[in-house]
Amino acid sequence: MKNLNKKLLAVLLSASIIVTGVVGSSTTADAKKKSAKSTKSNNIVVVLDAGHDSAHFGCHTDRFIEETANLYIAYYCKQELEKYNDVTVYMTRYGFECPYGLEENNKADCLSNRVDFAKSVKADVLVSLHNDYDPDLDVTQNGSKIIVPNQNYKPDISNKGIALGQSILTQLTTTGLNINDWKLCPNGTGIVTRDSSSSTYPDGSAKDYYALINKSKTAGFTCVIVEHGFCTNESDLTNHLSTPEQYQELGIADATGIANYYGLKLK
Ligand SMILES: [Zn+2]
Repeated sequence: MKNLNKKLLAVLLSASIIVTGVVGSSTTADAKKKSAKSTKSNNIVVVLDAGHDSAHFGCHTDRFIEETANLYIAYYCKQELEKYNDVTVYMTRYGFECPYGLEENNKADCLSNRVDFAKSVKADVLVSLHNDYDPDLDVTQNGSKIIVPNQNYKPDISNKGIALGQSILTQLTTTGLNINDWKLCPNGTGIVTRDSSSSTYPDGSAKDYYALINKSKTAGFTCVIVEHGFCTNESDLTNHLSTPEQYQELGIADATGIANYYGLKLK
């Protein structure tokens, strides 16, 4: 299976080079055009966050490297989303490394920087792309769930996350993935929140547990965390998390869910 990972990395690297080349060739005029587009009132700015990086690992098994899978899905999601009008798409990272050059022990700073980046480009939404594992290695845990902001402090941001999350989850189920009934917060819907047990928002209510979500809420926009499937589940891994084509299917599902939520029209 190491060969498979090498093959995946090689394909991704070439995709990365192509995309980096395109991004790298952007001129000031392009940047101005982009900025003019962003100021149009009906233009949506979506920031896709490929979870983790080569300094801040996600789930690893002998058949799966989460940070690589997430990067694939982000590229494919961006490619699909850019088929629509009135949307500008950014990614928090385009390569394997930490985009901020941070070491393994600076995970919190890396997450803060990702939110700061989204804020700097005036994100309407930050969509963080992940894959799951069961911490108890329960191989029956499977399917997708989306972690959305809780109702505290800024309920509008939560409501937007719930609606967007539902739109994405609907598309993910069309790929054959089940809805995961998260054991930390079982409610059967696949749309879940998780509260911090120790930190609070300025109004005294419980913060969202995940830094990306609570920092985005504080900054004034919605962040959702999409957990596509479980690398610890044989069916999810084999049928959804093993090939570039499968990652493309997930990226397209995410993009379609985002486009449907915003009512975007194909070009
Ligand atoms: Zn992850």
